[in-house]
Amino acid sequence: MKSVRIDMKGRRCGRLLVLSFCAPVGDGRAKWLCLCDCGKQVSVLGKHLRCGNTRSCGCIQREVVAHRSRTHGLSGSPTYMSWAAMKSRCGNPKQRSYENYGAKGVKVCERWIKSFAAFLADMGERPEGMTLDRINPFGDYKPSNCRWAGPTDQSRNTRGRAAIAILERLRVVRPNPPAMMCG
Ligand SMILES: [Zn+2]
Repeated sequence: MKSVRIDMKGRRCGRLLVLSFCAPVGDGRAKWLCLCDCGKQVSVLGKHLRCGNTRSCGCIQREVVAHRSRTHGLSGSPTYMSWAAMKSRCGNPKQRSYENYGAKGVKVCERWIKSFAAFLADMGERPEGMTLDRINPFGDYKPSNCRWAGPTDQSRNTRGRAAIAILERLRVVRPNPPAMMCG
């Protein structure tokens, strides 16, 4: 039985431009060398190109997965909410707790501001019952200063913060003392 090879050269399938025929290797099936719009070269079975199974080097699928995890998968997860709340505390003056964070100069590191994925990679998923805690309460939100902490760690740290706040108050002389009462 003789099979006729369909010439695919120069055809475009999705993001793939067919460059040349690859001599059959291994399984003996005909593959075509393609150049993807993203710049990667892949060899694809002719029938996969023709039936539309393969329309990129794999970059389309990667983009879809990345988009899903951005918009659907993890956006409602506890980890995502911690990330969003952290950014809001430090960057949104309308947020109630901004005065204790952003207004006091507490920042979120560049890497985390830009990307939830980076935050997730550094911190891992938030364990149940834990919250995002800064090891040094004056420090920024960054990988070296953050951890997931349970209620015990948190209250210890809150007591530390309260003590520091008292020291701050003793040190700072305000021109208009009654204004402190309004805060
Ligand atoms: Zn590609």
